[in-house]
Amino acid sequence: GFELTGKDYADYIKKAYELIHENGDYVTELDLATGDGDHWSNINMGFEKLVEKYEELGQLPISEEFKEIGKTMMAVIGGSSGVLYGSAYLAAAKAVKGKETLDCQGVCDSLEAMLEAIMSRGQAKEGFKTMIDSLAPAVMAYKKGISDGVSELEICEIVKQAAVDGAENTKNMEAVKGRATYQANKGLGHLDPGAVTMSYQIGTLMNCIKE
Ligand code: ADP
Ligand code: MG
Ligand code: MG
Repeated sequence: GFELTGKDYADYIKKAYELIHENGDYVTELDLATGDGDHWSNINMGFEKLVEKYEELGQLPISEEFKEIGKTMMAVIGGSSGVLYGSAYLAAAKAVKGKETLDCQGVCDSLEAMLEAIMSRGQAKEGFKTMIDSLAPAVMAYKKGISDGVSELEICEIVKQAAVDGAENTKNMEAVKGRATYQANKGLGHLDPGAVTMSYQIGTLMNCIKE
């Protein structure tokens, strides 16, 4: 089985930053259509700061690294997503407290802790047209993959696909939380930007684990 180290996770942060960075115009357009247009700039700023801390982050045990990432995201990312990602990483840090590295189950536990934190902080559930609609199906697929005894490599594929499909499904949803609720049509017909950037992160993490 794999062991995700602090250094591996810092490498993942770098790759996720690259993907987020190169999709700036696209993600900004998504948030302009249903929100206030700042989602990309918020999230990009957060990841930029994390990449600046690459050396420091990579030397930490994974649980300490999550805590540091959470604090940074909370401080640097503006908007709703800053608080949500900040809470998510702090919850993940608690869930894997004391762990130096993460195995397959450990990654699953940390993603599940993030999901629970985001749902509770945002008072939101699946189907509300938010980042949860990418993360929740990914966590579900991950847990099912483990309990069905699916190989780790295959789990990565399934989880990535679930995150991408989940983000895609937000197109057909009417927003119950977030700024898209201010739109007359509740954002129907548009992708939720937060779900799209969540799928970038989950997809990149799964790619990193596969390598
Ligand atoms: P803001 O909406 O404050 O400008 P961002 O643009 O950075 O913040 O982030 C918007 C994203 O945050 C949305 O696309 C959605 O995915 C997510 N979001 C907003 N409100 C909530 C909530 N209550 N629960 C979960 N996710 C939310
Ligand atoms: Mg916004
Ligand atoms: Mg905003």
